[in-house]
Amino acid sequence: MNYLADIGLEVHAELATRSKMFCACPVVDPALAQPNQAVCPVCLGLPGTLPVVNQQAVEFGLRVALALDCTIAPVSIFARKNYFYPDLPKGYQISQYEEPLAEHGILPIRTPQGVRNIRIRRVHLEEDTGKLTHVLADGEAYSLVDLNRAGVPLLEIVSEPDLHTVEEVRVYAESLRSLLCTLGVNSGDMEKGAIRFEANVSIRPAGSSDLGTRVEIKNLNSFKAMERAVAYQIGQQARLLDAGKAVEQETLGWDADREVTYSQRSKEEAHDYRYFPEPDLPPLGVEAAQVERIRQNLPELPFALQERLIQQYGISAEEAHLLSVDGNLANYFESCVRLAEDMPARIVLNWITGEVFAWMNQTGESIQQIKVPPEALIGLLNEVQQKIVNLNTAKSIMSEMLQSGQTAQVIIQQKGLQQVTDSNLIAAMVKEVLAAHPDEVKAYLDGKETLANWLFGQVMRRAGGKADPHMIRTELESQLKNMTKNTLRREGEK
Ligand code: ADP
Ligand code: ZN
Ligand code: MG
Repeated sequence: MNYLADIGLEVHAELATRSKMFCACPVVDPALAQPNQAVCPVCLGLPGTLPVVNQQAVEFGLRVALALDCTIAPVSIFARKNYFYPDLPKGYQISQYEEPLAEHGILPIRTPQGVRNIRIRRVHLEEDTGKLTHVLADGEAYSLVDLNRAGVPLLEIVSEPDLHTVEEVRVYAESLRSLLCTLGVNSGDMEKGAIRFEANVSIRPAGSSDLGTRVEIKNLNSFKAMERAVAYQIGQQARLLDAGKAVEQETLGWDADREVTYSQRSKEEAHDYRYFPEPDLPPLGVEAAQVERIRQNLPELPFALQERLIQQYGISAEEAHLLSVDGNLANYFESCVRLAEDMPARIVLNWITGEVFAWMNQTGESIQQIKVPPEALIGLLNEVQQKIVNLNTAKSIMSEMLQSGQTAQVIIQQKGLQQVTDSNLIAAMVKEVLAAHPDEVKAYLDGKETLANWLFGQVMRRAGGKADPHMIRTELESQLKNMTKNTLRREGEK
């Protein structure tokens, strides 16, 4: 049977504020801080303490909500979500429930199938939990609690079940991450858990308009985990329905090692959490003037940027998407293009998506960290354009530039990499190579035309890789052509 999948995502994004959501404790880098270094009576949930709302977190939340074109609630309500867990010292999480900060937004995404507007159901503020580490050492099993993260501001962004494919899920998630980074409200550092996903997945027979029963997959911490988990669930549910069985609503975890989902608990209901308005916090009022000020100051958003790059530079949607994932990348590209004057944007782009991306992937450096600023890249490309070096040499120069931060000019001078463009010299090298390989030349003349490339390689090797490839080719062709003529003439004489 043919099925259509419906997927809704709940995204938790840590807000990059200096202090926590309801107290003055600093938000610390989990990799650098001592456990329980940043805690106080409020985030420890000690009796008699009172929470105070972090205005910067509200501002960040509004920025995201407005970028998603949401309707902002003039008044929203904090609510207690009650449950017991060792990483939740208060015994409840302060969240927003019935009256969230913002609702009814849109995130446009572009996939190879075109542009789609994914509806955003709600955006609300809440606090993060602490972190548990389960230890099994010397036959002893115990758990450690670190409450540095307890009370860190989180923004939850919930979509409608508008996503239908794994690809859409990935593009949506990436687009949201770009948006958060562009707005400066989140580090985008998924490895440190700055963005976490929960995917709700159901399927229905193609043509049916009723949504199927959904499962919820918790704690997906990477794009890859999310893609795999969603794909797995779509397959699993199709097998169930094909076998005449029903999907059961439940909450699942993802086992990344075995690549399977596993059941965590059966259907959870809102009443299990006994939500009620947080008595320690007044309703959160947002002034219309503040909303307007934030709206006016929104930067160019990734989707608009992507569409502009497509229009302005004639690059593909995929390339534009790659560049708009991080506003700094697009900036780098546009700075290069401005400096490059009469060089096509396409050439600049190929170097960025080729050598630069490969380097960033390999080293983990960001575009701001790499040692080749736009001026230096364009400096190198000018050397290629002026035929001072050929393309292959330029690639090895680039790899040295990325490592040492030297300019192309200096590397070319120091290593004597200037291209050989002396036509007499090239003609002489071609002649030498043809004389040194009579068998291959004969085979070529007998019709084995692929040998032309091999002969080209020999000449380039003789030139130490530094000759103008176009000149070699032309010279090689003309000398071989002459030989063909001579051979024909000789055969005609026989
Ligand atoms: P909760 O998880 O608290 O029960 P909701 O019922 O509002 O919250 O739904 C949460 C998420 O599940 C949303 O992203 C929504 O789009 C998605 N969702 C709801 N129903 C379905 C469905 N039948 N199939 C897939 N996703 C769904
Ligand atoms: Zn605190
Ligand atoms: Mg949910």
